[in-house]
Amino acid sequence: MRYLVLPSSRSSGIGNGLTYEANDVKVGSAVRVPLRNKLVEGIVFDVIQERASVEYDVKQVKEILGDAPLLTDVQLRLVRWVAEEYCCSLRAALSVFLPPPPWSALLPADITGYALKGSIPEHLRSKKQMHVLEYLQGKDWVSIDNLKGGTGVTKPVLDALLKQDLIEKSLQKESSTETKNQKPKTNQPILTEAQKSAYESMRADPRPSLLFGITGSGKTEVYAQLIADTIEAGKQAILLVPEILLTEHSIHRFRNLIDPEYIAIVHSRLTPSQRRETWKKIHRGEISLVIGSRSALFSPLSKLGLVILDEEHEWTYKNEQTPRYHARETADALCRFTGAKLVLGTATPSLESWARAKAGRYHLARLPERYKNQPLPAVRVIDLAEARFGAMYPFSPPLLTAIEERLKKGEQSVLFLNHRGTATSLLCLQCRRRIVSPESQLPFTVHEGRDGKPFLLDHISGVSAPVPSECPSCHSTNLLAVGAGTQKVEALLRKQFPTARLLRADSDTLEHPEQMRLLLEKMRDGRADILLGTQSVVKGLDLPNVTLAAVLVADIGLSLPHFRAGERIFQLLTQLTGRSGRAKLGEVIIQTFRPNAPEILAAAKHKTEPYLEQELKLRLYTGYPPATRMIRLIFRGSDAKLRAEKLHIAVLQTIARQSLTAKASVAPTLFGAGKVWHVLLSCEEPRKIITQLDLTDVVIDVDPIECV
Ligand code: ADP
Ligand code: ZN
Repeated sequence: MRYLVLPSSRSSGIGNGLTYEANDVKVGSAVRVPLRNKLVEGIVFDVIQERASVEYDVKQVKEILGDAPLLTDVQLRLVRWVAEEYCCSLRAALSVFLPPPPWSALLPADITGYALKGSIPEHLRSKKQMHVLEYLQGKDWVSIDNLKGGTGVTKPVLDALLKQDLIEKSLQKESSTETKNQKPKTNQPILTEAQKSAYESMRADPRPSLLFGITGSGKTEVYAQLIADTIEAGKQAILLVPEILLTEHSIHRFRNLIDPEYIAIVHSRLTPSQRRETWKKIHRGEISLVIGSRSALFSPLSKLGLVILDEEHEWTYKNEQTPRYHARETADALCRFTGAKLVLGTATPSLESWARAKAGRYHLARLPERYKNQPLPAVRVIDLAEARFGAMYPFSPPLLTAIEERLKKGEQSVLFLNHRGTATSLLCLQCRRRIVSPESQLPFTVHEGRDGKPFLLDHISGVSAPVPSECPSCHSTNLLAVGAGTQKVEALLRKQFPTARLLRADSDTLEHPEQMRLLLEKMRDGRADILLGTQSVVKGLDLPNVTLAAVLVADIGLSLPHFRAGERIFQLLTQLTGRSGRAKLGEVIIQTFRPNAPEILAAAKHKTEPYLEQELKLRLYTGYPPATRMIRLIFRGSDAKLRAEKLHIAVLQTIARQSLTAKASVAPTLFGAGKVWHVLLSCEEPRKIITQLDLTDVVIDVDPIECV
């Protein structure tokens, strides 16, 4: 028989596999095959049915690794889907399904264990020895780890028992040992009426469900019920969360549901050996619930019954490296292939999901009220251009007062900072323009020089300039450096509230999910007063004593030339309003230079659905996704500009030839320092166009999220 094998080797030209001959191998198995004059690992991807017209010399598979395939048939199907959908090689698609090579390390290892030999003697002097024998009684074989865990046995005791010939020692393969095949017990959550009806409608509908529930409505409880059902039915579930740092935190919310022994955490910050161990545990069928970031979707579960994407609108679900998959779309395909139920939960649906729900492709379930009818917090919008900061920028006086009130009452505050907290630009408070670099036409950032004096720097071109005394556009002298960094903000807070207990959470200070979990425990136990964090980290928190949530400068993103900029700000602000007043009445403060921007007004009034409707209309009108599909072609290298422009022309010619309604543009990317260029193409079926083009050395990004 002939097989298509995907080698682990990264040599070029073999990304879609090579043909090998073998007697009988199961697809999905790991093998060793000769390649050039070396032996390399590979995965048997497919059986080759038809004979090649030209007979050529096909090499033999050298060795089959292990007895069981590493990948299931469904996973292989999904590899193919990812490769086709996101225009990459099969090998690139495969790379997210397995821990890094060597794949032989994923095979079941030999482990030591013990068994009773004959029956237990009536008299035995040592109580410890007796305890071990009793523990082994009625069991075929117990691994050393489990025996130690169950009895606390030490080596001398085992040696003594071996010497008396009362027990015997042997090696067994990991997977054939005492695999837990009982399903774990679940504790059913108690749902409110509203939650129950949302849950029941989702259960009854085979389509993917969009669970549109406002912040604090108890989406997690509904997930828990769905997960419990899945496990009760003897199946397995995946819960995806958008932020790696929050994975550990999420476990604690499912501890009451099942024994944590049956839960696995999967994300890219695990060490290679942790990744392998977790993968093996899941592969052996010992796990019922996988919680993780987007890559957890590729876990080797054989009885998948449910996939949940929490905060489905989050941009982190898109992988920004090859394979450039979107977890939402990939989960949709996986659920189609397995018959598993897909649930997308959010307080601010992505426009993609909203459009599908309206078209009937997704089932829509709603949770329009907070748990226990807790009211949504009142939102105050503060115009930063009008505020009198003194030395406290970016803290406006009303914000400082609000924080102080919380401290007096023993309540907590959460403060959001800009993602790029250190990039500070110079804003004219009169005409509200930023001072831009003549070189790149992008805002200058403000830096502190060695002499302590500020100067302007253009990060794209490297050009620097002194801080001007007046605005080049309107000549006002009312200029302000905006966008304070985390450290500066922290220092200001410490000065203003010296006795407040302050915590800082951003991806600079936190490296591991465990650190984030400990930090949140401090907030939960009341050992901290103020949590200062970057937006991506602070977004999804459920902390009952928080009665003030504030964003210091809401405008980041608003001024980016990006068709999703408004959507992003709206989602962020709605998330912010969701952090406050979850158990008692709370307040939200939005500080902004654009108090009248539509997304800010809509978020302040909790008007999610009208916002989505309006934005969807705008996308239809302007021809942007989800009204169309977009493909981004990325060019790197010294001739990036030349190649991008050439391809742009080819795209335009193809559009004209096929008389399609399509849009195509070419530009340098915003953060590529002039060295990265891209062509953006949007129309109903952009694939029809790109299949006509020569795309050698071009990175293809299907349904791009970042496109500036
Ligand atoms: P969401 O994810 O929709 O923002 P959560 O699931 O975090 O909301 O729920 C908000 C809060 O209300 C949580 O502290 C949660 O424990 C509580 N809650 C929601 N529903 C229930 C319920 N049915 N029983 C007990 N507590 C609930
Ligand atoms: Zn001005």
